[in-house]
Amino acid sequence: MPSTPRDISIPGVDNITHSLVGAALAEIALPADAPPARRTLFLTVGIVAANLPDADLVYTGVTSAPLGYLLHHRGHTHTVVGLVAQALLLGALCWLPAVRRRCGAPDARLYLLLAAALLSHLVLDSWNSYGVHPFWPVDVRWFYGDAIYILEPWLWLPLGVAAALNTRRRRRAMVLGAALSLLPVVLAVMGMIPVIALVALAATRAAAVVAIRRLRPRVRSLVALGAMAMFVAAMFALREHVRGVLLAAPLPASDTRLVDLVLSPRPANPLCWSALAITSREDADEYLLSAMQVGVVNGACGEGSARVTPQGATVQSLSRLRALHARDCAVHAWLQFGRAPELGAGIIADARFGGADRPNFSTMPLSAGAEAARCPAHLTAWGRPREDLLRGGP
Ligand SMILES: [Zn+2]
Repeated sequence: MPSTPRDISIPGVDNITHSLVGAALAEIALPADAPPARRTLFLTVGIVAANLPDADLVYTGVTSAPLGYLLHHRGHTHTVVGLVAQALLLGALCWLPAVRRRCGAPDARLYLLLAAALLSHLVLDSWNSYGVHPFWPVDVRWFYGDAIYILEPWLWLPLGVAAALNTRRRRRAMVLGAALSLLPVVLAVMGMIPVIALVALAATRAAAVVAIRRLRPRVRSLVALGAMAMFVAAMFALREHVRGVLLAAPLPASDTRLVDLVLSPRPANPLCWSALAITSREDADEYLLSAMQVGVVNGACGEGSARVTPQGATVQSLSRLRALHARDCAVHAWLQFGRAPELGAGIIADARFGGADRPNFSTMPLSAGAEAARCPAHLTAWGRPREDLLRGGP
């Protein structure tokens, strides 16, 4: 099954990556002579803080589905203001008498770790096509990295090798190493990554073990984070290349406006990308959602694959979208999340995750009559990604 953006059903960077980054940051922050209890405290704080913003999942039920998830996950806890609140909360927990008795009083290293781990969550989540709106309430716009797939084995690799080698207990280290090596195999079995990528990952993992085995734990973690940063930088450079390839193609009609280009690489295959172009034609009262597959080189997306392969398009009515936005309170709220709105028979769905023909977590039934004016509870105030389509004009 191709993993185009239309197939992504797991939103957000996975918590394996967040946890591995938290563990690496803890290792860097930890003094070399720290006793075991202090080490446990640092690792716990690093991993918990690196995942804490996803605690918003516990209250998505305050608004009816699917809006609760769409508006509250990656909501307030994924903003700079939310991070400050979480830092204060975690910092206060470290002052609890029970924690201080067992692990010692919090110090500058621990606070720095806490801040870095919390911030890492927002940074990592900003790398894919799901987006974040970190500067609310000052700036309510969404920002999309469009450069990293949500489950990326090449990120797990350096961080996972460092984490396994840094684990003091031999059995735990072996279990962690084996589990992280098996994850890409699971993705391959599910058809999400090609077998050749599995071979490349295994060979690179073996080389990484040899390369960093003799380093001190802190240096290992620094090297792993450095390798991750290099991979991410390379992916952003590739994103620009792919964007350039797509922008070089002529638009189908002179009055066509390119509204947005959603990009996402395939997992473990940085040379093959999925693209979703959103274009509009104001005079024709339509906008188009066009899915494509883009290879950085010929054959990157499979044997004989071309550089750009169209994968289907849907024509949508601009006036219908605008009318629903104006009169249906739930759609008005849904559009605080939807980046690629696709209207089907009685539903609206985001084409990034499957669209109207493949129901997914973003699919919302449309209300009829007076029902439509009724607003669900606890709505948010994020910017609308498709304000450009709703407003119209060039
Ligand atoms: Zn998150």
